[in-house]
Amino acid sequence: MKTIPHAKAAAAFNKDEPRTNWHDETLWFVREKRDRAAHGVAEWELLRDWASQIKGHTLSRLDEYLIEFENNAKANGITVHWAANGEEHNNIILGIIRKQGIQRIVKSKSMLTEECHLNAFLQEKGIEVVDTDLGERIVQFRNEPPSHIVLPAIHLKKQDVSETFHEHLGTEKGNNDPQYLTEAARQHLRSKFIESDLAITGVNFAIAETGGFVVCTNEGNADMGAHAAAVHIACMGFEKIIPKAEHLAVFLRLLARSATGQPITTYSSHFHKPRNGQQMHIVIVDNGRSRQLSRPDFRSSLKCIRCAACFNTCPVYRRSGGHSYHTAGPIGSILNPNLDVKANADLPFASTLCGSCSNVCPVRINIHEQLWKWRQVIAAEGEVATSKKIGLKAMAFVLARPALYRACGSMARWFLRYMPFFLKSKSLNPWYRQREMPKPPQQSFQSWYKQNKPGKK
Ligand code: SF4
Repeated sequence: MKTIPHAKAAAAFNKDEPRTNWHDETLWFVREKRDRAAHGVAEWELLRDWASQIKGHTLSRLDEYLIEFENNAKANGITVHWAANGEEHNNIILGIIRKQGIQRIVKSKSMLTEECHLNAFLQEKGIEVVDTDLGERIVQFRNEPPSHIVLPAIHLKKQDVSETFHEHLGTEKGNNDPQYLTEAARQHLRSKFIESDLAITGVNFAIAETGGFVVCTNEGNADMGAHAAAVHIACMGFEKIIPKAEHLAVFLRLLARSATGQPITTYSSHFHKPRNGQQMHIVIVDNGRSRQLSRPDFRSSLKCIRCAACFNTCPVYRRSGGHSYHTAGPIGSILNPNLDVKANADLPFASTLCGSCSNVCPVRINIHEQLWKWRQVIAAEGEVATSKKIGLKAMAFVLARPALYRACGSMARWFLRYMPFFLKSKSLNPWYRQREMPKPPQQSFQSWYKQNKPGKK
C-alpha cells in the first residue's frame, strides 16, 4: 500500500481548522495532566534515571535475559515462540489458530500486532479478529488505523463515534451521549468476549526472573479476553523484557503518569501461567530490533515503554494528526526508518527538533537528537528531494564563505524590501502559507554590532 507523505497528509488534516485546533488542545490537556502527575512525585527525575538505566542495562544483556525469561516461562507451562519478523509472527499465530480450529478471536491493544499488520493478515485468511479496546474497536469499525498508541480514536469527536455506532451497532441516530455510546459498546463487546475461543494481548513488561508478564489497560479488556478464552497468545517485541519483578515498580509508576496523568493504569494484570485447561503462548518478535540495537545512535529507542507522552507534547503531532505519520508518531519516526529508510524518509523531518519529546520521555530517550541523526542518514542515502539536496549544497557553499554570506545577506535584505511577493507567494513558498513575513532589517547584526559594540561610542 502506498503511503501518503507526512506533509501532504498533514495538509489534508489541517483543512479542517476547528478539528485541528480541538485535536491540539485535547492532546495538550493530556500533556498538562501528565505534568501535574509528574510534579506530584518528588523522586520523578530519579525514577526516569532508574528506568533509563534499567533499560540500558537490559539491552546490553538482552541475550541472557531473554533466555532466562524463556526458561522460566516454559517452566510455568507457557509455550514460547520466536519470530524473526512480522511474517513469522503472523504465521505462528495463524498456525495456533488453525491447529485449534478456532473461529472467534478477541484482541486487546498491541502496537506490535499493528506493526506486523496482523488483523489484515488474519482477515485475508478468512479469520475475524475483534479489537476490544474501545478506541480500537471504533477505528476498526471505520476501517482506519489507530491515530495514537494510547488514545487510538483521539482524532474522532463523539459525533463521529455516534455515527459509526449507529451504522455498526444500530444505536439511535444522532444520540451523542458518551454514557449511552459506551454502554452500547460494552454490551457489544461483552458478547464477543463470551463467544471467543482465543484472546490475543500485547505485553507491557516481561520479567526474566519469573517468566511472567504484565499487561496494562484501563478498560480491563485484556483480562476479560484472556480469562474467558481457552487459548491466550501474548505478543511482545523483545525489548519488553526487564530483569526482575522489583523493577516493575519503577516502570508502573512512570507509565500511567506519563501516558494519561493517572497514578496507575486501572488494570496492571500479571500473567504467570495458564489456568487449568488453558493454553498460553508468548510470541517474542525481533522484526528489525536487532538491527536497531546494532546502531549506536539509535539503540536507545528500544527503551521505549509506549507511553505516548512524546505524542501529546509534540507541536507537530498535535497539529498534523496521527494518521499523517503512517506509523506511530514521534517514536515511530525514529523506529520505522530502521525498518525501511525509503518508505519512512519523510518522518524524521516531521519535527521542529524543539526537544519537548525528550523532555517528557520517562526513559530519557533523546528523541529529537535521533530525529536529527536520522535526517543525516536519510540525506547520506540519497532519500531527500532533489530540490532540498540542491538547496543544502548551495547553503553549505555560502555558509563556508563569510564574504559571500555577507553579500547574500545584503542582497536578501534588498530583495525582501523591494520584491517580497516572490518569497511570500503561497504556491512558491509553503512556509509562508500560515506565517507573516518579518520586516527586513536595514543592516545585518554584524554591521550593527560593529557600530554599537561597547566602547565604540
Ligand atoms: S519515546 Fe519515550 S515518551 Fe515516547 S512513547 Fe516511548 S517512552 Fe513514551
